[in-house]
Amino acid sequence: MTDLGLPEDIEACLFDLDGVVTRTAVVHAAAWKEMFDAFLRERDGEGFAPFTAADYDAYVDGRPRADGVRTFLASRGIELPAGGPDDPPAAATVHGLGNRKNELLLARIRTDGVEPYDSTLAYLHAVRARGLRTAIVSSSANCRDVLRSIDAEDLFDVRIDGVVAAGRGMPGKPAPDTFLAAAAELGVEPARAAVFEDALAGMDAGRAGKFGYVVGVDRVGQAEALYAHGADTVVADLSELGGDA
Ligand SMILES: [Mg+2]
Repeated sequence: MTDLGLPEDIEACLFDLDGVVTRTAVVHAAAWKEMFDAFLRERDGEGFAPFTAADYDAYVDGRPRADGVRTFLASRGIELPAGGPDDPPAAATVHGLGNRKNELLLARIRTDGVEPYDSTLAYLHAVRARGLRTAIVSSSANCRDVLRSIDAEDLFDVRIDGVVAAGRGMPGKPAPDTFLAAAAELGVEPARAAVFEDALAGMDAGRAGKFGYVVGVDRVGQAEALYAHGADTVVADLSELGGDA
């Protein structure tokens, strides 16, 4: 292992955004809960079964927005028309609900701002100082704006986000395609790339893509589940891996 806590033959690091680079996983979770609880309350009345943290981890976290809506609704036996990406937030469609959640998310970000994990930024600097290449691989369509807001765009050689994936018709996590595209753009074999993810869907993508090393970042006490979904190691924070300047 290197002083970055990675196998010697790793040449590139592929980072998820929300929950790994920025403290936005909790903001996403809160926006999803607000949206789904309002939807379920309207549909089922006051006796509705609320959206839970376990629902977020299993069905929503890490997935592209519309997939998150569809997967959670399916878990409750609910099916809505897909609609289209331009559906208004009021539309009773998969994309409408997704856009409703995004409005709530952006409102929260506008109010509270975005905070990075300083330890991740330090780790990124250490990785790059040792000549490894870096990519950001996020399902978020807001990835670029979020990176700009924390002045971290330059820390990544490649960005594969929700906008890029949609433009190329690539399936999002848990499919490995976005991570594989990032490795390809960096000119690195998947076996020589490490994946850094906090979502179970991200672990699945790392395993499916046969990446050289999968680091589960456990911000919420789900280490066992991260291992079960394919993590090679689990840390609570990237500072545990090393990379001290
Ligand atoms: Mg994440």
